[in-house]
Amino acid sequence: MTALVSRRSLLALGAGLGASLGASTLLGGSALARAPKLGTQSPYWHRFNLGGAEVTVVSDGPLPLGDPSGTFLGVPKEEVKKMLSDNFLSPDNVVLEQNSPVVNMGDKLVLFDTGMGTSKAFGPTTGRQQKSLAEAGIKPEDIDAVVCSHAHIDHIGGIVGADDKPLFPNAQYYIAQSDFDFWTDEGKMGSPLKDFIVHARKNLMPVRDRLVFFKDGQEILPGIQAMAAPGHTVGHTMFMVTSEGKSFAFLAISAITPCCCWKSRAWNFPTTPTRSRRRIRG
Ligand SMILES: [Zn+2]
Repeated sequence: MTALVSRRSLLALGAGLGASLGASTLLGGSALARAPKLGTQSPYWHRFNLGGAEVTVVSDGPLPLGDPSGTFLGVPKEEVKKMLSDNFLSPDNVVLEQNSPVVNMGDKLVLFDTGMGTSKAFGPTTGRQQKSLAEAGIKPEDIDAVVCSHAHIDHIGGIVGADDKPLFPNAQYYIAQSDFDFWTDEGKMGSPLKDFIVHARKNLMPVRDRLVFFKDGQEILPGIQAMAAPGHTVGHTMFMVTSEGKSFAFLAISAITPCCCWKSRAWNFPTTPTRSRRRIRG
């Protein structure tokens, strides 16, 4: 009897639901409402542990460099295109992923490089570092140190915001003095380097009194060692980050597009000289 009642109840319930759904649909109700497409991407960050440290990699967004022949000099065009295609990358446009690690060493929260900031010199897809930090739950005011690999716009561009005020108000800033001196030199304003100088000055001068210059091999913060890798710029530097016996290297622009840089010695970034390349390879 109980089973019969239950079956009847279920049938009745089903009929009710059908009628209800039909009525809602006819009336344009919400039961079958179509949600609008959001058009957004998944959050642009990734988190992992390194020994006792926590590392969050945040993206500044894709940075398109254009035709590969402008980047991979001295290598036959067709070879570059094939290697890019074979690795599911566009053969016509080298696109860099501007990834910055944020390392929580326990007592210090350290950000490496700051992306393009408000500059759209490489198009609209860059300059999302602040957004990525927010998505990852990291507050700019919690950053204790901003470590810069070199003074090009896509690495120091996010030190200040649109109002020219520092975006990381409680941080000290670390960079090689040779790069600071070269790229903030007003004497180069009449040269083809003018745009680089303008951007470097715009971002670095507001934090001039908070800059710390480091030397090759120096442990600039506990567990973070600077390693000079000149070539791309005069003071270009990579960093070894170590915690409880685990390490990773932040190479900055020493290697771009891994398929082209690492598979053969011929595919290194052309402006990184042999000595630096040997150092990177260990
Ligand atoms: Zn650069």
